[in-house]
Amino acid sequence: MSQQQVERGFTLWFTGLSGAGKTTLTEALVPQLRLRGIAVEVLDGDEVRTNLSKGLGFSKEDRDANIRRIGYVSRLLSRNGVGVIAAAISPYREIRDEVRASVEADGAAFVEVYVKASLDALIARDVKGLYKKALAGEIKQFTGVSDPYEEPVRPEVVVESDRETVEESAAKILSRLEELQLLERARAVR
Ligand code: ADP
Repeated sequence: MSQQQVERGFTLWFTGLSGAGKTTLTEALVPQLRLRGIAVEVLDGDEVRTNLSKGLGFSKEDRDANIRRIGYVSRLLSRNGVGVIAAAISPYREIRDEVRASVEADGAAFVEVYVKASLDALIARDVKGLYKKALAGEIKQFTGVSDPYEEPVRPEVVVESDRETVEESAAKILSRLEELQLLERARAVR
């Protein structure tokens, strides 16, 4: 295996409804990737909205701008060998595909992970209390309730967080990264 392939960065792109498990899986994966010698950087949707995308709202236009910004930073980092984890709802397929194309154009890998759970499960889970408010009409343009979510067509990984434990979902993602030879650096270091 050439040095170049060993050094290949990637963007692990989580997409899915609020409360589906994007942040939880990010937190589970970061230490595991670091253990393998990978430089990891996280772009979490909630956090990005407080700095990089501060002031943006939830119209389609603002959501697209938010995702393009996350995609832009992901591209810069992953083309320099970083393992980026982007965890934002990213409801629109076209923009996710646009980000994929830009990351891949720079020679890095784009790995789309659909964090899937039924709306019923998410409402029952309601980790942040947002579904209750959205269903009561207190939050407008809430993805999955009053705003669209376009499922990925051919994601590299699908995890079903209403049927799997966090450990199972994280293991599924790691083994896909392994299959895609994106954890090779670990072997090079060892
Ligand atoms: P998001 O970042 O997508 O908004 P969170 O990670 O904040 O979602 O919340 C997901 C919730 O679902 C957490 O309470 C987590 O413990 C729970 N959960 C149960 N099973 C899974 C799984 N397989 N993967 C991820 N989260 C899970």
